[in-house]
Amino acid sequence: MTLEIETVPCLADNYAFLLHDRKSGATALFDAPEAWPIQRELERRNWQLTHIFITHHHGDHIDGVAELVAAYHPEVIGAARDAHRLPPLDTAVEPGDTYDMWGREVQVFDAAGHTTGHVAYYVPKAGAVFTGDSLMALGCGRLFEGTAAQMWATLSRLAALPDDTLVCSGHEYTAANARFARTIEPDNAALAERARRTEQARAIGTPNVPSALAEEKATNPFLRAGLDEVKRAVGMDGASDVEVFAHIRAAKDRF
Ligand code: ZN
Ligand code: FE
Repeated sequence: MTLEIETVPCLADNYAFLLHDRKSGATALFDAPEAWPIQRELERRNWQLTHIFITHHHGDHIDGVAELVAAYHPEVIGAARDAHRLPPLDTAVEPGDTYDMWGREVQVFDAAGHTTGHVAYYVPKAGAVFTGDSLMALGCGRLFEGTAAQMWATLSRLAALPDDTLVCSGHEYTAANARFARTIEPDNAALAERARRTEQARAIGTPNVPSALAEEKATNPFLRAGLDEVKRAVGMDGASDVEVFAHIRAAKDRF
């Protein structure tokens, strides 16, 4: 593999991701919760930061941008529709765009729901998607600005990526997400098994992120809201996918 992904824990429970292309020397950062852990990782690897991709405008995803820009002068990429509330962008992108990162394709996905301007970045050659606070390990972001219909459309778009895609999401909420997921699907054996592994990993401080998309499809109740078995499990036989998703999202907010 000439593309390497490094997960960088930041703040209390955030993750940033470094993607390094050995071929071109490009080193991309996906979200910048704070600068120092990222800078430390760059120095340890002897990588020069060349690009910063921003998923959305929340402080725990952008507060490190200014310091990293001052230190490395990378190109900053983010959603055009949120340019007014993001750090200054060198390249404003829209969902559907393909960005050329020194010869590597980065596809911009509409990931609205958590915020209206949220985007995700899919790097086919790395087999990875950087989802911020949209699709998360065993979860999805809270609906702060967008609607349930928007988030459901986002999750459905991301679920259509190849099964072995690595889902690089923005937070370590996996253990709490697992406890909630078990209340929705107590009979899901794959989920029970994943919940066990998640607890073990947390006990020894190992990240549960990134995760494989196939595993999310088998265990993440938000992604699974369209399945008959899940509709039945929440007593909503015959309801629409969005209604079931909205119900599960609201239940998580109260959990
Ligand atoms: Zn957020
Ligand atoms: Fe966040």
